[in-house]
Amino acid sequence: MVLAELGGKLRSSLRKLTSSNNSEALTTEALNALLSEISRALIESDVNVQLVMKLRTNIQKKVGELVANHSSSGGGGGGGSSAAANVNINRMVQRAVVDELTAMLTPSSSGDNNNDNNTSKSSTVKAYNMKRGKPNIILFVGLQGAGKTTTIAKFAHYYQRRGYKTCMVCADTFRAGAFDQLKQNATKLRIPFYGSYTEADPVVIAEEGVERFVHDGYEVIIVDTSGRHRQEEALFDEMQEISAAVQPDNTIFVMDATQGQAVYDQALAFHSAVNVGSVIVTKLDGHAKGGGAISAVAATGSPIIFLGSGERFEDLDPFNAKSFVSKLLG
Ligand code: GDP
Repeated sequence: MVLAELGGKLRSSLRKLTSSNNSEALTTEALNALLSEISRALIESDVNVQLVMKLRTNIQKKVGELVANHSSSGGGGGGGSSAAANVNINRMVQRAVVDELTAMLTPSSSGDNNNDNNTSKSSTVKAYNMKRGKPNIILFVGLQGAGKTTTIAKFAHYYQRRGYKTCMVCADTFRAGAFDQLKQNATKLRIPFYGSYTEADPVVIAEEGVERFVHDGYEVIIVDTSGRHRQEEALFDEMQEISAAVQPDNTIFVMDATQGQAVYDQALAFHSAVNVGSVIVTKLDGHAKGGGAISAVAATGSPIIFLGSGERFEDLDPFNAKSFVSKLLG
Protein backbone atom coordinates (compact mmCIF):
# COMPACT_ATOMS: atom_id res chain seq x y z
CA MET A 1 0.00 0.00 0.00
CA VAL A 2 1.44 3.37 -0.93
CA LEU A 3 1.59 6.18 1.57
CA ALA A 4 -1.35 8.09 0.11
CA GLU A 5 -3.47 4.94 0.22
CA LEU A 6 -2.56 4.33 3.84
CA GLY A 7 -3.63 7.91 4.64
CA GLY A 8 -6.91 7.35 2.80
CA LYS A 9 -7.64 4.11 4.69
CA LEU A 10 -6.85 5.57 8.09
CA ARG A 11 -8.92 8.65 7.31
CA SER A 12 -11.94 6.62 6.29
CA SER A 13 -11.67 4.35 9.36
CA LEU A 14 -11.63 7.39 11.58
CA ARG A 15 -14.41 9.07 9.64
CA LYS A 16 -16.64 6.07 10.18
CA LEU A 17 -16.19 6.55 13.88
CA THR A 18 -16.98 10.27 13.86
CA SER A 19 -19.99 9.93 11.62
CA SER A 20 -21.65 7.28 13.74
CA ASN A 21 -23.63 9.48 16.05
CA ASN A 22 -25.73 6.78 17.63
CA SER A 23 -25.20 5.53 21.13
CA GLU A 24 -23.32 2.45 19.88
CA ALA A 25 -20.52 4.59 18.56
CA LEU A 26 -18.01 3.38 21.03
CA THR A 27 -18.88 -0.11 22.01
CA THR A 28 -15.93 -2.44 22.47
CA GLU A 29 -16.93 -4.02 19.19
CA ALA A 30 -16.87 -0.76 17.29
CA LEU A 31 -13.51 0.13 18.74
CA ASN A 32 -12.04 -3.30 17.96
CA ALA A 33 -13.30 -3.09 14.40
CA LEU A 34 -11.67 0.31 14.01
CA LEU A 35 -8.40 -0.88 15.52
CA SER A 36 -8.36 -3.94 13.28
CA GLU A 37 -8.86 -1.75 10.24
CA ILE A 38 -6.12 0.61 11.29
CA SER A 39 -3.75 -2.27 12.12
CA ARG A 40 -4.38 -3.92 8.77
CA ALA A 41 -3.72 -0.66 6.94
CA LEU A 42 -0.44 -0.18 8.81
CA ILE A 43 0.78 -3.75 8.25
CA GLU A 44 -0.10 -3.56 4.55
CA SER A 45 1.93 -0.39 4.50
CA ASP A 46 4.94 -2.30 5.88
CA VAL A 47 5.01 -1.17 9.46
CA ASN A 48 6.63 -3.89 11.56
CA VAL A 49 3.91 -6.20 12.91
CA GLN A 50 5.07 -6.04 16.51
CA LEU A 51 5.00 -2.26 16.39
CA VAL A 52 1.45 -2.32 15.09
CA MET A 53 0.41 -4.63 17.93
CA LYS A 54 1.98 -2.25 20.41
CA LEU A 55 0.19 0.71 18.85
CA ARG A 56 -3.07 -1.18 19.06
CA THR A 57 -2.63 -1.98 22.74
CA ASN A 58 -1.67 1.61 23.53
CA ILE A 59 -4.71 3.06 21.79
CA GLN A 60 -6.97 0.48 23.41
CA LYS A 61 -5.66 1.39 26.83
CA LYS A 62 -5.98 5.08 26.26
CA VAL A 63 -9.48 4.84 24.84
CA GLY A 64 -10.54 2.44 27.59
CA GLU A 65 -9.64 5.09 30.14
CA LEU A 66 -11.51 7.74 28.18
CA VAL A 67 -14.65 5.64 27.99
CA ALA A 68 -14.47 4.79 31.69
CA ASN A 69 -14.20 8.47 32.58
CA HIS A 70 -16.94 9.31 30.15
CA SER A 71 -19.33 6.71 31.63
CA SER A 72 -18.59 7.57 35.23
CA SER A 73 -19.25 11.23 34.50
CA GLY A 74 -22.69 10.19 33.19
CA GLY A 75 -21.91 11.01 29.59
CA GLY A 76 -22.62 7.64 28.05
CA GLY A 77 -24.20 5.50 30.71
CA GLY A 78 -27.74 4.14 31.00
CA GLY A 79 -28.49 4.28 27.31
CA GLY A 80 -28.95 8.02 27.50
CA SER A 81 -25.79 9.16 25.80
CA SER A 82 -26.11 12.16 23.58
CA ALA A 83 -24.77 12.37 20.06
CA ALA A 84 -22.64 15.32 21.10
CA ALA A 85 -20.97 13.29 23.84
CA ASN A 86 -20.19 10.52 21.39
CA VAL A 87 -18.72 12.88 18.86
CA ASN A 88 -16.54 14.15 21.66
CA ILE A 89 -15.30 10.63 22.45
CA ASN A 90 -14.75 9.93 18.78
CA ARG A 91 -12.54 12.98 18.55
CA MET A 92 -10.57 11.71 21.52
CA VAL A 93 -10.09 8.36 19.78
CA GLN A 94 -8.86 10.19 16.71
CA ARG A 95 -6.43 12.12 18.82
CA ALA A 96 -5.19 8.91 20.45
CA VAL A 97 -4.47 7.44 17.00
CA VAL A 98 -2.64 10.58 15.87
CA ASP A 99 -0.66 10.74 19.13
CA GLU A 100 0.39 7.10 18.96
CA LEU A 101 1.47 7.32 15.32
CA THR A 102 3.43 10.47 16.10
CA ALA A 103 5.04 8.76 19.11
CA MET A 104 6.13 5.87 16.90
CA LEU A 105 7.93 8.34 14.67
CA THR A 106 9.45 10.18 17.61
CA PRO A 107 12.13 8.12 19.34
CA SER A 108 12.50 8.54 23.06
CA SER A 109 15.62 8.06 25.12
CA SER A 110 14.01 5.24 27.07
CA GLY A 111 14.21 3.25 23.83
CA ASP A 112 10.55 2.51 24.11
CA ASN A 113 7.91 4.39 22.22
CA ASN A 114 4.95 3.41 24.31
CA ASN A 115 4.61 6.86 25.75
CA ASP A 116 1.22 7.30 27.23
CA ASN A 117 -0.09 10.72 28.02
CA ASN A 118 2.71 10.74 30.52
CA THR A 119 5.77 11.92 28.63
CA SER A 120 7.79 12.93 31.66
CA LYS A 121 9.49 9.55 32.03
CA SER A 122 11.11 9.49 28.61
CA SER A 123 12.64 12.42 26.81
CA THR A 124 12.55 12.78 23.06
CA VAL A 125 15.79 11.98 21.25
CA LYS A 126 16.94 15.16 19.57
CA ALA A 127 18.35 15.08 16.08
CA TYR A 128 21.98 16.16 15.75
CA ASN A 129 22.21 19.92 15.44
CA MET A 130 24.66 21.17 12.81
CA LYS A 131 27.07 23.63 14.41
CA ARG A 132 28.52 26.68 12.70
CA GLY A 133 32.20 27.56 12.84
CA LYS A 134 33.40 24.04 13.58
CA PRO A 135 33.74 20.82 11.58
CA ASN A 136 30.66 18.58 11.63
CA ILE A 137 31.70 15.17 10.34
CA ILE A 138 28.69 13.36 8.94
CA LEU A 139 28.99 9.70 7.97
CA PHE A 140 26.44 8.24 5.56
CA VAL A 141 25.66 4.51 5.63
CA GLY A 142 23.10 2.33 3.88
CA LEU A 143 22.63 -0.52 1.47
CA GLN A 144 23.64 -0.17 -2.16
CA GLY A 145 20.88 1.45 -4.18
CA ALA A 146 19.21 3.00 -1.14
CA GLY A 147 19.99 6.43 -2.56
CA LYS A 148 23.00 7.29 -0.43
CA THR A 149 25.09 9.12 -3.03
CA THR A 150 22.07 11.02 -4.34
CA THR A 151 21.03 11.95 -0.81
CA ILE A 152 24.52 13.15 0.03
CA ALA A 153 24.35 15.61 -2.85
CA LYS A 154 20.94 16.82 -1.70
CA PHE A 155 22.15 17.08 1.90
CA ALA A 156 25.24 19.03 0.84
CA HIS A 157 23.10 21.33 -1.29
CA TYR A 158 20.73 21.89 1.65
CA TYR A 159 23.51 23.04 4.00
CA GLN A 160 25.46 24.92 1.39
CA ARG A 161 22.36 26.99 0.65
CA ARG A 162 22.15 27.80 4.34
CA GLY A 163 25.65 29.21 4.30
CA TYR A 164 27.65 26.28 5.68
CA LYS A 165 31.06 25.62 4.19
CA THR A 166 30.28 22.18 2.82
CA CYS A 167 32.31 19.38 1.20
CA MET A 168 32.13 15.68 0.38
CA VAL A 169 34.48 12.73 0.74
CA CYS A 170 33.97 9.58 -1.33
CA ALA A 171 35.05 6.55 0.71
CA ASP A 172 33.13 4.16 -1.52
CA THR A 173 35.79 2.16 -3.32
CA PHE A 174 33.52 -0.86 -3.74
CA ARG A 175 31.05 0.31 -6.39
CA ALA A 176 32.60 1.13 -9.74
CA GLY A 177 31.60 4.65 -10.69
CA ALA A 178 30.72 5.75 -7.16
CA PHE A 179 33.48 8.36 -7.10
CA ASP A 180 32.52 9.64 -10.56
CA GLN A 181 28.90 9.99 -9.46
CA LEU A 182 29.85 11.95 -6.35
CA LYS A 183 32.31 14.06 -8.33
CA GLN A 184 29.70 14.87 -10.96
CA ASN A 185 27.19 15.97 -8.32
CA ALA A 186 29.79 17.96 -6.43
CA THR A 187 30.91 19.73 -9.60
CA LYS A 188 27.33 20.63 -10.52
CA LEU A 189 26.79 21.99 -7.02
CA ARG A 190 30.22 23.65 -6.92
CA ILE A 191 31.06 21.79 -3.73
CA PRO A 192 34.65 20.64 -3.05
CA PHE A 193 35.15 16.88 -2.97
CA TYR A 194 37.84 14.37 -2.12
CA GLY A 195 38.37 10.86 -3.47
CA SER A 196 40.82 8.66 -5.31
CA TYR A 197 40.96 6.46 -8.39
CA THR A 198 44.06 4.66 -7.18
CA GLU A 199 43.77 4.25 -3.42
CA ALA A 200 41.82 1.05 -2.73
CA ASP A 201 41.51 1.40 1.04
CA PRO A 202 38.37 3.41 1.91
CA VAL A 203 39.62 3.98 5.46
CA VAL A 204 42.71 5.78 4.15
CA ILE A 205 40.62 7.94 1.80
CA ALA A 206 38.11 8.82 4.52
CA GLU A 207 40.84 9.72 6.98
CA GLU A 208 42.85 11.80 4.50
CA GLY A 209 39.79 13.57 3.10
CA VAL A 210 38.38 14.49 6.48
CA GLU A 211 41.77 15.61 7.76
CA ARG A 212 42.25 17.90 4.77
CA PHE A 213 38.80 19.48 5.01
CA VAL A 214 39.04 19.95 8.78
CA HIS A 215 42.37 21.68 8.22
CA ASP A 216 40.79 23.91 5.59
CA GLY A 217 38.01 25.02 7.94
CA TYR A 218 35.05 23.22 6.40
CA GLU A 219 31.90 23.05 8.53
CA VAL A 220 29.87 20.23 6.99
CA ILE A 221 32.14 17.34 6.00
CA ILE A 222 30.11 14.55 4.45
CA VAL A 223 31.60 11.08 4.09
CA ASP A 224 30.03 8.59 1.67
CA THR A 225 30.68 4.93 2.47
CA SER A 226 30.11 1.97 0.22
CA GLY A 227 26.95 -0.07 0.33
CA ARG A 228 26.41 -3.70 -0.52
CA HIS A 229 23.42 -5.51 -1.87
CA ARG A 230 23.01 -7.33 1.40
CA GLN A 231 24.13 -6.82 4.96
CA GLU A 232 27.50 -8.48 4.70
CA GLU A 233 30.10 -8.92 7.36
CA ALA A 234 32.71 -7.17 5.23
CA LEU A 235 30.54 -4.09 4.84
CA PHE A 236 30.03 -3.73 8.56
CA ASP A 237 33.72 -4.24 9.29
CA GLU A 238 34.57 -1.53 6.79
CA MET A 239 31.96 0.88 8.17
CA GLN A 240 33.26 0.36 11.69
CA GLU A 241 36.82 1.02 10.61
CA ILE A 242 35.85 4.20 8.76
CA SER A 243 33.76 5.31 11.71
CA ALA A 244 36.66 4.73 14.11
CA ALA A 245 39.01 6.62 11.79
CA VAL A 246 36.91 9.75 11.20
CA GLN A 247 34.98 9.84 14.51
CA PRO A 248 31.74 11.18 13.03
CA ASP A 249 29.58 13.68 14.88
CA ASN A 250 26.54 12.07 13.33
CA THR A 251 25.98 8.83 11.39
CA ILE A 252 23.04 8.91 9.01
CA PHE A 253 21.33 5.73 7.89
CA VAL A 254 19.80 6.12 4.43
CA MET A 255 16.88 3.79 3.89
CA ASP A 256 14.87 3.07 0.80
CA ALA A 257 11.15 3.38 1.56
CA THR A 258 10.32 0.84 -1.13
CA GLN A 259 12.09 -1.97 0.76
CA GLY A 260 9.08 -2.77 2.90
CA GLN A 261 9.26 -5.03 5.93
CA ALA A 262 12.96 -5.77 5.32
CA VAL A 263 13.86 -2.28 6.52
CA TYR A 264 13.34 -3.06 10.19
CA ASP A 265 16.06 -5.74 10.22
CA GLN A 266 18.36 -3.66 8.00
CA ALA A 267 18.07 -0.66 10.28
CA LEU A 268 18.70 -2.81 13.33
CA ALA A 269 21.83 -4.36 11.78
CA PHE A 270 23.28 -0.99 10.74
CA HIS A 271 22.50 0.50 14.11
CA SER A 272 24.24 -2.23 16.04
CA ALA A 273 27.29 -1.87 13.78
CA VAL A 274 27.77 1.90 13.76
CA ASN A 275 25.48 3.65 16.18
CA VAL A 276 23.11 5.38 13.79
CA GLY A 277 22.17 8.89 14.94
CA SER A 278 19.65 9.90 12.27
CA VAL A 279 17.62 8.39 9.47
CA ILE A 280 16.85 9.71 5.99
CA VAL A 281 14.07 7.95 4.11
CA THR A 282 14.36 8.04 0.32
CA LYS A 283 11.97 7.36 -2.56
CA LEU A 284 8.84 8.42 -0.77
CA ASP A 285 7.67 9.73 -4.11
CA GLY A 286 6.31 7.14 -6.49
CA HIS A 287 5.21 3.80 -5.11
CA ALA A 288 6.92 3.82 -1.75
CA LYS A 289 5.30 2.29 1.27
CA GLY A 290 5.67 4.57 4.25
CA GLY A 291 5.63 2.00 7.01
CA GLY A 292 9.31 1.16 6.81
CA ALA A 293 10.06 4.65 8.08
CA ILE A 294 8.23 3.97 11.31
CA SER A 295 10.04 0.64 11.64
CA ALA A 296 13.46 2.25 11.08
CA VAL A 297 12.85 4.78 13.82
CA ALA A 298 11.89 2.02 16.20
CA ALA A 299 14.87 -0.13 15.25
CA THR A 300 17.51 2.60 15.55
CA GLY A 301 15.91 4.78 18.20
CA SER A 302 16.97 7.65 15.93
CA PRO A 303 14.85 10.40 14.47
CA ILE A 304 14.11 10.80 10.78
CA ILE A 305 15.61 14.11 9.72
CA PHE A 306 14.76 14.33 6.01
CA LEU A 307 12.59 12.64 3.43
CA GLY A 308 13.79 12.15 -0.13
CA SER A 309 11.04 12.80 -2.63
CA GLY A 310 12.71 12.64 -6.03
CA GLU A 311 15.97 12.60 -7.93
CA ARG A 312 16.71 16.33 -8.07
CA PHE A 313 19.02 18.11 -5.63
CA GLU A 314 16.04 20.04 -4.25
CA ASP A 315 14.02 16.91 -3.47
CA LEU A 316 14.86 16.70 0.21
CA ASP A 317 12.34 17.78 2.81
CA PRO A 318 13.01 18.28 6.52
CA PHE A 319 10.94 15.82 8.50
CA ASN A 320 8.47 16.63 11.22
CA ALA A 321 6.61 13.70 12.81
CA LYS A 322 3.52 15.64 13.77
CA SER A 323 2.95 17.25 10.41
CA PHE A 324 3.78 13.95 8.66
CA VAL A 325 1.02 12.17 10.61
CA SER A 326 -1.41 15.09 10.28
CA LYS A 327 -0.88 15.08 6.53
CA LEU A 328 -1.28 11.31 6.44
CA LEU A 329 -4.62 11.56 8.20
CA GLY A 330 -5.74 14.76 6.51
P1 GDP B 1 23.46 4.40 -3.49
O1 GDP B 1 23.91 3.10 -4.09
O2 GDP B 1 22.83 4.17 -2.16
O3 GDP B 1 24.51 5.44 -3.47
O4 GDP B 1 22.24 4.89 -4.41
P2 GDP B 1 22.17 6.09 -5.48
O5 GDP B 1 22.31 7.41 -4.82
O6 GDP B 1 23.05 5.81 -6.62
O7 GDP B 1 20.63 5.96 -5.91
C1 GDP B 1 20.09 4.81 -6.52
C2 GDP B 1 18.91 5.24 -7.41
O8 GDP B 1 17.86 5.77 -6.63
C3 GDP B 1 19.30 6.34 -8.39
O9 GDP B 1 18.68 6.09 -9.62
C4 GDP B 1 18.71 7.60 -7.77
O10 GDP B 1 18.38 8.59 -8.71
C5 GDP B 1 17.47 7.04 -7.10
N1 GDP B 1 17.00 7.86 -5.96
C6 GDP B 1 17.69 8.25 -4.88
N2 GDP B 1 16.89 8.95 -4.03
C7 GDP B 1 15.66 8.99 -4.61
C8 GDP B 1 14.39 9.57 -4.22
O11 GDP B 1 14.21 10.18 -3.16
N3 GDP B 1 13.36 9.40 -5.10
C9 GDP B 1 13.51 8.71 -6.27
N4 GDP B 1 12.44 8.60 -7.06
N5 GDP B 1 14.66 8.17 -6.65
C10 GDP B 1 15.73 8.30 -5.83
